[in-house]
Amino acid sequence: MARPFRQAIIFLLPIVILAGATTGWSASNQDLERKIDQTKRKLTQTRNREKSVLGNLLSTQKKAETVRSNLQQINSKLDKTEESIDKVRDQINLTLNQLEAIRNRIRDRKSVLGKRLATIYKYGYQSYLEVLFAARDYGEFVSRFEMVGRYVRGDLALLKELQDQQEEVARKKEVIARQHEELRQQQTAYAQLQKSAKNEHSRWLSKMQEQQRQLAAIQNDRRSLERALDELEELSKQMESQIRGMQNNSKVALGTGRYIWPTRGTITSYFGYRIHPILRKRKYHSGLDIAAPRGRSIVAADNGVVIFSGRNGGYGKMIIIDHGAGYSTVYAHCDYLLVAQGRSVTKGQEIGKVGTTGLATGPHVHFEVRKNGVPVNPLDYL
Ligand SMILES: [Zn+2]
Repeated sequence: MARPFRQAIIFLLPIVILAGATTGWSASNQDLERKIDQTKRKLTQTRNREKSVLGNLLSTQKKAETVRSNLQQINSKLDKTEESIDKVRDQINLTLNQLEAIRNRIRDRKSVLGKRLATIYKYGYQSYLEVLFAARDYGEFVSRFEMVGRYVRGDLALLKELQDQQEEVARKKEVIARQHEELRQQQTAYAQLQKSAKNEHSRWLSKMQEQQRQLAAIQNDRRSLERALDELEELSKQMESQIRGMQNNSKVALGTGRYIWPTRGTITSYFGYRIHPILRKRKYHSGLDIAAPRGRSIVAADNGVVIFSGRNGGYGKMIIIDHGAGYSTVYAHCDYLLVAQGRSVTKGQEIGKVGTTGLATGPHVHFEVRKNGVPVNPLDYL
């Protein structure tokens, strides 16, 4: 190539690129950029909603858990009360049986006594029995019938003893019956507490379910927005011919051919085809994603000339460096661009800052190596 002509090209190149940048791909990407901005705003809103709904859900879960453990305590108290009621009921039945037995013995004793008296006084069994049962106490009875024998005295003593026993058991029965009544009241109170705790628990549970549904819907939205911000394929394809048009056609390498890492960070996505974790679809990724904090330096991977520095739709703020011999590198999603088109840069020179412009959900550098405009695996050159 003749010298003056080459100089003219070098002189004209930035102008051509500038024109290309403002009219060519940049203009065609203005709609895309607007869409990206909208999507990112929506994503931020969705993430905030997700955070607040998640916070609500967590506090609801905590409340439901408190009510649940409260309910458990009430349940165990109710169980214990019911056990006590069963025991007391057994005791009541026992004392009732005792009372019945004592009453039977008293009846038998009185009948024996009546017969004995009838034999002694010959007045007839029935009348003595009536007198016996009508007597206010046995002392009175004994004084009315002075002619009582040893057996009758024994019978009377036994009767007195049985009646004492009867009174004692009856008192015991009263005490137990009161206890039973108290326990029954306790049972009713616990049953009411149980009912209201159950209601409260089911209210919290349904609130939790509602919030879980909300959260799932929001997460769905968030994921589809993130997916929308993950589509660079088409733009990457368009760039192939555009880069070829901008590149210096010289076969002479401007750099060493061995690249250094454009920034310190973690690789979050590799070059090539991968199965999308959510879409379960094969997706093509034209570069290497290196996640790094926003504002961290991005450096030129090798010596070269900046052939593009500006906005490019999904790539956001982007730099392309031509390294000669058909090679170029791309640095996308920058927060700031620090070199202008047409500038020569040296390997390791700071050219921009890490950001999230364009289709990026978090701060990272999307780094591409291209051979004649076609993306190749950057790891083969680093
Ligand atoms: Zn990427």
